[in-house]
Amino acid sequence: QVKRSGKNAFRFFDPELNTHYRERITLENDLRLALERSEFELYYQPQISLKGKRVVGMEALLRWNHPTHGQIGPATFIPVAEEIGMIGDISHWVLERACGQLAQWRDAGFSDLRMSLNLSPHDFSRKDVVEMVTECVERHRLPSSQLELEITESMMMQDSAGVAAKVRAMRDAGLSVAIDDFGTGYSALAYLQKFPVSTLKIDRSFVRDLDGPSTNPIISAITGIARGFGLQLIAEGVERMEQAETLRALGCDIMQGYLFAHPAPAEQATAWLNVAPEIDFAAP
Ligand code: C2E
Ligand code: MG
Ligand code: MG
Ligand code: MG
Repeated sequence: QVKRSGKNAFRFFDPELNTHYRERITLENDLRLALERSEFELYYQPQISLKGKRVVGMEALLRWNHPTHGQIGPATFIPVAEEIGMIGDISHWVLERACGQLAQWRDAGFSDLRMSLNLSPHDFSRKDVVEMVTECVERHRLPSSQLELEITESMMMQDSAGVAAKVRAMRDAGLSVAIDDFGTGYSALAYLQKFPVSTLKIDRSFVRDLDGPSTNPIISAITGIARGFGLQLIAEGVERMEQAETLRALGCDIMQGYLFAHPAPAEQATAWLNVAPEIDFAAP
């Protein structure tokens, strides 16, 4: 294979790159059709209160059931959907589906469950993002506080779309807002005043390090921040009992992770609501 040096244009004819390029085009085309072909599915992962020994919430996590490639995770296709301008339609579908599921669970007697869903930066560039959410919540007759929108620190730092004002409007409408992956994005404490969120989700990279004795400066600091600002705290990525026990000792009661459950389809998630989580909860 001939490779000319110094000229980027010739790299285009690198057979391997060409394959990537064609795969990417195929992915884009498939993605454009995925909504109308009903290939998206919401998985749900429970958020558990150790103290209360019960499921207090569910996070909706998007999956794409591709007809030939099998199931594709959001980390692969969400960035593509953002680039090709499809994320708005996808987010709308996610919102509709998540509210519908929460209403179904309410009708089944689980009336104080919270539903969390992830928004992408692009969603906040919509002028009507707050109306889009409140309209859906009202149509399903859900208490707005039971819907939680997860945003990331990077969205708070690039505030060109007026994210702070939109977060404030969401909170004024009674909605809950969480900062996802908290602690990873260099956000200053001042952001917590500018963005009146209700919940912090401790990133799983911090939880991963929690194996030894129950001292950990980062978790202790985040716990203090949550207490000081009056915010709810959730730890994500809890995989081992020692991590859960340490988190609890440090003052974080609500957690989410493979220790309790992997994200799963609605039917499985409903089964979890009907039984106490299958875990030997440690004594306080
Ligand atoms: P995230 O919101 O931080 O979600 C947590 C991710 O960690 C999920 O990956 C979840 O499956 C995974 N996870 C949960 N427990 C554990 C654990 O104990 N250990 C480990 N190693 N991982 C765990 P998933 O479902 O692949 O989602 C990846 C990311 O994609 C999400 O991160 C979120 O940022 C984004 N995403 C998911 N669904 C949507 C959606 O509907 N819309 C948008 N815009 N983004 C979404
Ligand atoms: Mg999330
Ligand atoms: Mg997260
Ligand atoms: Mg994450």
